[in-house]
Amino acid sequence: MQKNYQPVNLPNEFPGGFYVCTLSRPRRLLFANAEVLRLFDCHDFGELTVHIQNNVENMLMPEDIKQVHSQIERQLSAKGTRFEHICARIVTHTGRPRYVDISGCVVHSLEEGDLLYCLMLETGNRASDYQIDKDIREYVIENIDTALSRGWIHLYYQPVVRTLTGDLCGFEVLSRWIDPKIGFLSPGMFIPALEQTRQIHKLDTYILKETCRTIRSRMDKGLPTVPVSFNLSRVDFMLLDVFDMIESTMTEFRLPRDLLHIEVTESVVAEDPGHIRATMDRLRDEGYEVWIDDFGSGYSSLNLLKDVNCDLIKLDMGFLRTFTEKSRQIIASTISMAKKLGIKTLMEGVETSEQADFLASIGCGRLQGYFFGKPQPLEGAFSHMKAAGAGIETRLWHHYYDMAASAIHETDEPLTLLEFAGGKFHFLYTNAGYREQVKSIHYTVRDIEASFNDNVNAPLYRDIRSLVHATEESGRRETYFCTIANNYIRTVMHVVAHTDGHTLFCMSSWNITQDSSHMENQKFDDNLRYLYMMFDSIYIVDFDADTVNQIREKSAFNLLEQGCENGIRKMTEAYGRALVYEDDLEAYQRYVAPETILQRLHDSPDGILNCCLRLKDRHGSYNWMGCSILLIPEAGSRKVAYTARSFDDRADNIAFMVQSMVKSDAAQKGTHLSPAPGQLNDAYKAMLWDSQQRNSEFCYFWKDTKRRFLGVSHSFLRYYGFDSAQDVLGRTDEDMGWHVDDGPYRDAELEVLQKGRVIQNQPGQCIIRGVLHHITCYKWPLYNQGRIVGLMGVFFDADKMRKRIRDISETSYDDPVTGLMNARGWADAMFSYDEQRTLQKRQYSVLLIENASYDSVVSAYGMDIARQLLQREADAIRKMAGRRATIARTGQATFALLTYDKDEDEARKRASDVLRALNSIHEIAGNPVTLVFRYAIAHSREKGVSTENIYHIAQDRLHQQQKTERRQKRRRRN
Ligand code: C2E
Ligand code: CA
Ligand code: CA
Repeated sequence: MQKNYQPVNLPNEFPGGFYVCTLSRPRRLLFANAEVLRLFDCHDFGELTVHIQNNVENMLMPEDIKQVHSQIERQLSAKGTRFEHICARIVTHTGRPRYVDISGCVVHSLEEGDLLYCLMLETGNRASDYQIDKDIREYVIENIDTALSRGWIHLYYQPVVRTLTGDLCGFEVLSRWIDPKIGFLSPGMFIPALEQTRQIHKLDTYILKETCRTIRSRMDKGLPTVPVSFNLSRVDFMLLDVFDMIESTMTEFRLPRDLLHIEVTESVVAEDPGHIRATMDRLRDEGYEVWIDDFGSGYSSLNLLKDVNCDLIKLDMGFLRTFTEKSRQIIASTISMAKKLGIKTLMEGVETSEQADFLASIGCGRLQGYFFGKPQPLEGAFSHMKAAGAGIETRLWHHYYDMAASAIHETDEPLTLLEFAGGKFHFLYTNAGYREQVKSIHYTVRDIEASFNDNVNAPLYRDIRSLVHATEESGRRETYFCTIANNYIRTVMHVVAHTDGHTLFCMSSWNITQDSSHMENQKFDDNLRYLYMMFDSIYIVDFDADTVNQIREKSAFNLLEQGCENGIRKMTEAYGRALVYEDDLEAYQRYVAPETILQRLHDSPDGILNCCLRLKDRHGSYNWMGCSILLIPEAGSRKVAYTARSFDDRADNIAFMVQSMVKSDAAQKGTHLSPAPGQLNDAYKAMLWDSQQRNSEFCYFWKDTKRRFLGVSHSFLRYYGFDSAQDVLGRTDEDMGWHVDDGPYRDAELEVLQKGRVIQNQPGQCIIRGVLHHITCYKWPLYNQGRIVGLMGVFFDADKMRKRIRDISETSYDDPVTGLMNARGWADAMFSYDEQRTLQKRQYSVLLIENASYDSVVSAYGMDIARQLLQREADAIRKMAGRRATIARTGQATFALLTYDKDEDEARKRASDVLRALNSIHEIAGNPVTLVFRYAIAHSREKGVSTENIYHIAQDRLHQQQKTERRQKRRRRN
């Protein structure tokens, strides 16, 4: 309106935007110079006043208005008449956003009352984007030394935030030139000038030194610190020995190297003929992290990662400026690619919560941008973060959260990071897929967390703990099954990181109750659900459709890969080839013969066909497994379940043994029942029941809804030393007073009765004639016409059970074919070798030898000859490997040797001796054979080798060879 307003004492050629407005609201714009008009893309003052509706507050982007004005008020009330360096976004007349830095002061004018004189400088702009004022350029070139010595160069710190926790995990230091004469200068205005005149190293040396000085002084005062990243320019590498400069400064201030990260922009690295990369490598070798800045701003980004070693990529903020589906896709795939290469990720320029949420969902490790905090002096930066409620990540946790972030990958499959610390679980991350799964069972993630943590007696509480234990112990990816609210959940988990009593697991869960890909529309009745828990492998075989559906398989056998879902015969043959032990093949074939199976099932007393077979597990060793084929009780169906389970030490497996033994008990004792189970009549059921009660060796009981005993098996009475059931019937556990603590069992039984839960393997203690026994209990509801009418249970003496398992497992260390050890024995031996290494510093090596022609021998001459071949090989290895070698057959045709070799040379020599002996085998029982062996060595002295991984490293090398051979073969063929 009043263009005639003329501010006093203003230099004509003012560098930057200048405007005047009233202090009282609404703040009317009184004057704006040409630069302000340019910033707003306006032709004249009138256009600008219309654009901002004659209110200066409308200069800002709507989202920024409130925050900027509260900052102005705060500064004005603190400093009286001034405010400085408030960063904000403006919207131009043509709708473009711009980034500016605003400062101002209150000036009294006679005619207008109190006014604000404001300075508006464009920031965040690349220098090349616009012509720096020529005067400023000259001023900078001439005055850099003065600026440095007089302290006009200020260090501003911008927070970097850990995505998973929201905690402060670092700062980037950025320079500002605050000039007594011309005011505030952003780096875009002075850095290009310094680079062109080869003076930038003065600035960067100064910035590093002052950063280090500040960190040192904070450490001396016991104040918290975080790593700081600082920027290097291309010209720095030309002007000084960058490594030397950094190293000497860090030494001067006695700072650990992991506190400093070095940022080099993508373009610098891309155009480097080599010596910058060499310096980067050297810095990394010495323990500094080297980051690539502005990643993705150029065209060569993807190639770059192939050739350049770096610790982290900082994705260019340009990706976020157009926050479209396409740019989100690019960000997501860049991040997932970096992860595959083991490179950490950071996104800069994050301005909105929407962007932050998206970046969290795809697992970007760290975030930086105005949304979390603008660059400002260090004290302010720390207090800003504190006010925002962010914690400060200590050094101890950097690696832990880096690992956590790297475990997150883009997937539609359900994925979570689950933290276990101090006995409690906490979901650190859940992806959309997981949340959906949880929703499908009408829970929230918080409900799940609560049930993991609070419900001490619930099965889930115990299940998740034992699961976590097993995963920690095995150090591998493990698969588990559990039920939540009548849904069947398959969970796969592995350990990601472990720090200071916190263990982080990466966990995926599937609600397979509703998983159409697994179960189609098949009704998942209770019996099937129960099967899940019990077996290592389950197949649903449909004789009408001639299809096989793999429901669960713990070994490496994958039906889909075999391409034989269709065709029962094909599938059973493939299974036999892949998993069944040579000697058991015949029995297996008889057992699964498809044409007679239905008849045999019908003829069997209890509708189950049982068979014991040695099956190969996923580590390649054979274990005795209990296999059962059962009719699926579904009227008129010709569907059958093929199952297998190991007799291992997992106590919940025992329940199955119980069941099947009870059944064979019944069979032996003469209660032959011809109809299939679905059609059992009541009289038969009663007979079966009576027989079980009398003859079973297991301690059964059943109770009414008030938890009073209705009946017990004879062995139950014997176990407790009662003469007759009358001593127990009608009483509760509390009446009997036999448990050391009644609480847990009572609560569990109430869960069974009220919620229909199946309780498995619940431990407890009871006192029998003065002696404490450990027992473990299974309980399940009894239904009558859909209502729970009581419960039934069975318990075992855990001490006895443990002894039995020990007896079974002691003998299972050898390989029946060669008399060598099997994989289990091998694992045990590994531990003694490792003990020797720790105690005696004895080094050892692992040698794996695989007969690549084993399969062709089998197909040419059959199993018998193949077995003899294995024996010959074993003999040859025994002879050549030396007396002190430990030898095992760990796979079908794979032998593994553990020997004390002082170095890799010695190991290699031994390997070639053994191979020579093996290669001299040319015939087996008169049949000529041409054998090809491949082998791999791993030595305990190699970098990165430990007891946990030495076997896998060797195995990987073996696989690698296999792959190469295949590739060569293919090439030769082509
Ligand atoms: P850079 O290393 O990419 O630094 C990030 C720039 O983005 C900073 O601008 C920062 O203030 C700005 N920024 C941070 N968050 C956001 C956001 O959410 N939105 C937007 N629009 N911008 C954001 P600044 O401080 O102006 O620095 C510009 C460039 O100057 C830097 O880019 C860096 O390459 C260079 N630079 C700054 N200080 C130094 C220094 O001491 N030495 C050297 N060699 N270069 C420096
Ligand atoms: Ca940077
Ligand atoms: Ca950058």
